[in-house]
Amino acid sequence: MTPEDLERAAGDSAVGGVSAYFDHAATSWPKPTGVVDAVVRALTVGGGSPGRAAHRLGLEASREIYAARTACAAFLGARRSKDIIFTRGCTESCNLMLKGLLRAGDRVVVSSMEHNSVARPLAVLARLGVEVVRVAAHENGTMDPASIEAALSAPTRAVVCQHVSNVTGTIQPIAEITRIAHNAGAVVLVDGAQAAGHLDVDLSQLGVDAYAVSGHKGMLGPQGIGLLYLNPELEVDGLLEGGTGGGSETVEMPSSRPDRYEPGTPNTPGILGLGAAVAFLGGEGAAQRDQEQLLTQHLHEGILDIGGYRVSGPAPGSPRGPVVSVVPDSGTPPELAAWLDREHGIACRAGLHCAPWAHETMGTRDTGTCRFGLGYGLTETHVDMLLDALRVYRS
Ligand code: PMP
Repeated sequence: MTPEDLERAAGDSAVGGVSAYFDHAATSWPKPTGVVDAVVRALTVGGGSPGRAAHRLGLEASREIYAARTACAAFLGARRSKDIIFTRGCTESCNLMLKGLLRAGDRVVVSSMEHNSVARPLAVLARLGVEVVRVAAHENGTMDPASIEAALSAPTRAVVCQHVSNVTGTIQPIAEITRIAHNAGAVVLVDGAQAAGHLDVDLSQLGVDAYAVSGHKGMLGPQGIGLLYLNPELEVDGLLEGGTGGGSETVEMPSSRPDRYEPGTPNTPGILGLGAAVAFLGGEGAAQRDQEQLLTQHLHEGILDIGGYRVSGPAPGSPRGPVVSVVPDSGTPPELAAWLDREHGIACRAGLHCAPWAHETMGTRDTGTCRFGLGYGLTETHVDMLLDALRVYRS
């Protein structure tokens, strides 16, 4: 997208009543035009059933899904495209890695910053006999690798930790946690919903065993698509069984990846949209990511300058994901979010953000926070608009 396109998108959003969109941590908006075009193309000229037909439309859909899978693997630093499993979103990816792996009698160590996409499947698994050990993060949201190490004194099947907090933007030391967990014989399962597309995620460097990705947040794809990276060494059970377009003579699921985890007709428009998003992120979108970091620091420092807001998470100047969460000294986070929307057309989100554990860790369980999630399409002008509004609200 050119700066003119961005201006146009901002202008269009003003028509819809939104002058600045700070809810990227929930879902990114608007999407790059290439993503929109890919979805439209899949619904018009390229709509065959992938992997299930020998006619040209079906073959073309299969080819394009393969290309999208390969692009996602390359973007995330996965060596083999077949280790990328497409899902409905990060929620399904987390369910697949947790429920596909953990069995009664297993022990799992989990950070206290997790989203309900991890906490709720673990609650189900705990009822089935999995021992869940929650390890408290520091008050700024950081998991200390030493606390994970201490929790690994008993035999443990898995360590589960998010990469970036959706409440505070805290970036966890995943490579270090992975080294410690592997030394203790545990596999590492990561919720990367708020990292992929915002940080440079290189799975070959992180060395994790499973990494769950949301397609519609920082990755800039459509809603309803996500993926799970599964290390070639890690076998988990699938969540669903059904048709895969091949080996139809047997009732058993194929053993090969990705088919064994992807029964049913796939979300072709979503997958091709995600493929186009990855092409954007690897090209002109890279500059946007650098800009996101600068804008996040600018917003954080600006809020501290105004005063009257408690900001959760890492100190200004330290690396963080593009999320800034605040509690106003006067009024509540929901009141602030409603006022920003009503008076200024600024979109953000208030509440617990589906992460009550994280709020317990930060001491914001009773109030929740008002969260500003930054991302594609935002400029310094938008951030200054938000800062001006926050100044007025405080006065
Ligand atoms: N994990 C985290 C940390 C998230 O912020 C979210 C989205 N709120 C999810 C998982 C779920 O992602 P999805 O919407 O792709 O299912």
